Amino acid sequence: MSNVQKLYYEKRAKTLVKNLKSRHFDAYYCADKEEALAKALELIPEGATVGWGGVMSAHEIGLIEALNKGNYKAIDREKCKTPEEKAEAAKQSMFADVFLTSANGLSLDGEMVNIDGQGNRVAAIIYGPKTVLVIAGMNKVCDDLESAIQRARTVAAPMNQQRFSSPNPCGVTGICADCKTETCICNHIVITRHSRPVGRIKFILVGEDLGF
Ligand code: SF4
Repeated sequence: MSNVQKLYYEKRAKTLVKNLKSRHFDAYYCADKEEALAKALELIPEGATVGWGGVMSAHEIGLIEALNKGNYKAIDREKCKTPEEKAEAAKQSMFADVFLTSANGLSLDGEMVNIDGQGNRVAAIIYGPKTVLVIAGMNKVCDDLESAIQRARTVAAPMNQQRFSSPNPCGVTGICADCKTETCICNHIVITRHSRPVGRIKFILVGEDLGF
């Protein structure tokens, strides 16, 4: 990444961290993946039960690997062999000490947008786990809420669809067709505007492009 882009991300992050804190989120800015991994491990107590959903960014900073190797009770749905086991792991994540996720879009004003297929990820963000830790690259940050929703719908969701074989239009074209298919991955669009209890939702913003 160029110095110009680093400076751009760092300056925008100052505004975003201030605005997130004004909404009772905890927020930290880390310049790169290594710093973000160290901060995440500082925030997750050893021995904690940790669940996750939508964690490309956490994978990219090495956090999922560190949790699987370390002294944590990881609820890893990717290791489940059957749909039933996956569903059970999603339910267990609702009672985790820490739930890891990312954002599909963030407004500079401090609001987070997430889209979910089955709803387990956004459910855990809203209620259940004691702490929600959001790892988000600064590429997720948009100037306002409208553009954050637009990003989530037209960039994050069609890119996410590329991971699946389900027959949704964006899987073929890369463009959202606002579909109504049974396999649609955009069934819940959630805006998180504050954290209650104070500090329950924590952000680690990373000055790099992560996830989608
Ligand atoms: S086409 Fe359907 S599944 Fe794809 S992004 Fe749009 S609403 Fe979501």
